[in-house]
Amino acid sequence: MSANPVRLAAITAVQAYQPPPITFDPGEEPGEIFGENVFSLTVMQKRLPKSVYKSVVSTIEKSTPLDPEIADAVASAMKDWALEKGATHYAHVFYPLTGLTAEKHDSFLDPVGDGTALASFSGKTLVQGEPDASSFPNGGLRNTFEARGYTGWDVMSPAYVLENPNGNTLCIPTIFISMTGEALDHKTPVLRSQQAMSAQAKRVLELFGHANPDNVVAYCGPEQEYFLVDSHFFLSRPDLLNAGRTLFGAKPPKGQEFDDHYFGAVPERVLGFMMDTERELFKLGIPAKTRHNEVAPGQFEVAPMFERANEASDHQQLLMTTFKAVAKKHGMECLFHEKPFAGVNGSGKHVNFSIGNATQGNLLLPGDTPHDNAQFLVFCGAVIRAVHLYGGLLRVSVASASNDHRLGANEAPPAIISIFLGEQLADVFDQIAKGGATGSKEKGTLIIGVDTLPDLTKDPGDRNRTSPFAFTGNRFEFRAPGSMQTVAGPMVILNTIMAEALDYCATALEAAVAAGTDFDVAVQELLSTIISDHGAVVFNGNGYSDEWQVEAEQRGLKNLRTTVDALPELVAPDALELFSKYGVFNEREMHSRYEVGIEQYVMTVGVEANLTLEIGSTTVLPAALRYQTELASNVAALKAAGVEADTATLEAVSAPIGALRAGLAELATAVAGAHEHEGIEEAAYCRDTILPAMAAVRAAADTLEGLVADDLWALPTYQEMLYIL
Ligand code: ADP
Ligand code: MG
Repeated sequence: MSANPVRLAAITAVQAYQPPPITFDPGEEPGEIFGENVFSLTVMQKRLPKSVYKSVVSTIEKSTPLDPEIADAVASAMKDWALEKGATHYAHVFYPLTGLTAEKHDSFLDPVGDGTALASFSGKTLVQGEPDASSFPNGGLRNTFEARGYTGWDVMSPAYVLENPNGNTLCIPTIFISMTGEALDHKTPVLRSQQAMSAQAKRVLELFGHANPDNVVAYCGPEQEYFLVDSHFFLSRPDLLNAGRTLFGAKPPKGQEFDDHYFGAVPERVLGFMMDTERELFKLGIPAKTRHNEVAPGQFEVAPMFERANEASDHQQLLMTTFKAVAKKHGMECLFHEKPFAGVNGSGKHVNFSIGNATQGNLLLPGDTPHDNAQFLVFCGAVIRAVHLYGGLLRVSVASASNDHRLGANEAPPAIISIFLGEQLADVFDQIAKGGATGSKEKGTLIIGVDTLPDLTKDPGDRNRTSPFAFTGNRFEFRAPGSMQTVAGPMVILNTIMAEALDYCATALEAAVAAGTDFDVAVQELLSTIISDHGAVVFNGNGYSDEWQVEAEQRGLKNLRTTVDALPELVAPDALELFSKYGVFNEREMHSRYEVGIEQYVMTVGVEANLTLEIGSTTVLPAALRYQTELASNVAALKAAGVEADTATLEAVSAPIGALRAGLAELATAVAGAHEHEGIEEAAYCRDTILPAMAAVRAAADTLEGLVADDLWALPTYQEMLYIL
């Protein structure tokens, strides 16, 4: 138990913790509340005129353009439904490039001139909004005097009512664009890239004999890791409060080495929190499915069922907001930072990715017949090509100052983007590369060719936890995304690079067929070309090993270690060409994203540096000086009394105090020098000068934490934050 009054008060408060009162009927049937607050297709079917409903369904299911005539009818039904649900306001919800969620709320009430007001909500207000956009990052897409931005209704993502004890709000997911139509958000490119991928996937499906296939969509199942910390500790840590991660803190004597947390029972308080979050998510139609402890103490995971990427990404944002709010209700803080505690496992958000549609099913699932398997292998081959050609873009889609602390730290996949295929699939592609006639590993001899393909088992086989991009039996798991990031970023890249690769496959197959080549042979040739051109990206070994770093370099794979290394990928000539070819981003939009990436990186490091200076100077140094004074007066007193004094302890404390002082001075100078640099140079300066200066301050402070008398140390320790819940 701490002897420091601040920490002691926090610990005492945690001990006195009482769970919040249960506000729901414990007899409620599971599933009863699912989608209760969602303006879903079922609700629309009940409330909309038949023709309007059909038109909306056709836009959602078949991506037919939205008929502007129906907006008024939908708006009116939506308003009535929302008012019945207790909503007083409506909000266009959008996803600016900060990675957060933004909302602009308006009341339903309109004054009617006689001193009263009527609830109104027109099609026009549903379809378009006009928030003041000046405070959202735009990377030069807008002059500050042109503050205007538009939000536009995304029919594909259902509206919902968000509850609050003081009144409910109808939330309408929207895109967010500039006056000139350029994307200022994460949703617009998801929708554009989805369209591009679908068009190319359909060409491939047609070649396999599916006339007029339905749209192909990308699916995303995100696994979200997070930490829970009691709010009493959280509030005594200005670094956690402001930066989301601890900038100080010595490693606890007991870490995660026993794995006792991972395999242990979920603590009761946390279980209460999980139940509560799940109820909230269910009401919003978010299919939270799996929950468990994660590897670090205080760390947990939630995995909703996979959904269409656009919806999954909106739901993912809503999930994070819900978790934060519910945690507060339970006296805790939910941390989504990728590395809140140095030396302790960080948090990721694995993005499980597949493509398909209702009629064709999952196109990344090996089929029951050789014919399906040929098609499956072409889609798989497309993934291999995409990841090999555009690994740099996948890398930049997960690049952030916070995720830099995690990638490549032997707990998360390395910054090198490679693919793990699993033994069986790797073997099939190996044999294709060797020239065609081939047998599947377990099943004896089979020959590649549409009518004679190997019978692929659907078992995912062994997992490879060290691969950033792993085939897991019916999908690829992209393991590099950070816990705080929106999944929209990776999904845009995946869709776009798949569009290119599928375009390539379709073009090759169409040409071969036109030239009279037998289709089986054409498929065989395509796959063998892909594996010989792009097989270098397949790696089934240990991604954490040092040898892989060397081998990857020999294979010509990029190793973009930091965000600063990765960001230029966004504006590389081949990237600009790719995105404009498939109509996902124009050049200006790419440059804007590059600029915003730099800005976010510089701001994050800047805030952390200032916090380090503040906490170092006002909390750590004073505690250390007080202790030093105590020791010095003890030495002086003992000497005066003619008793042998302990000068060693005094010296042991004085050395890191000197280092801390010097470190703080150096960091202050480094911070002051930042403005001499601009753009990517400034980001590089942050990485190469400011971050190391922060690390030096931290090293001295963490040493002092092990020396200074406990009653003088006011910052909650790692032990307290991670183990007391
Ligand atoms: P793990 O064993 O990797 O921890 P989880 O059960 O935690 O797996 O999460 C797996 C995620 O993958 C879930 O979100 C699940 O819905 C998703 N998933 C399953 N099948 C597919 C698919 N075909 N496409 C995309 N995501 C999928
Ligand atoms: Mg999981």
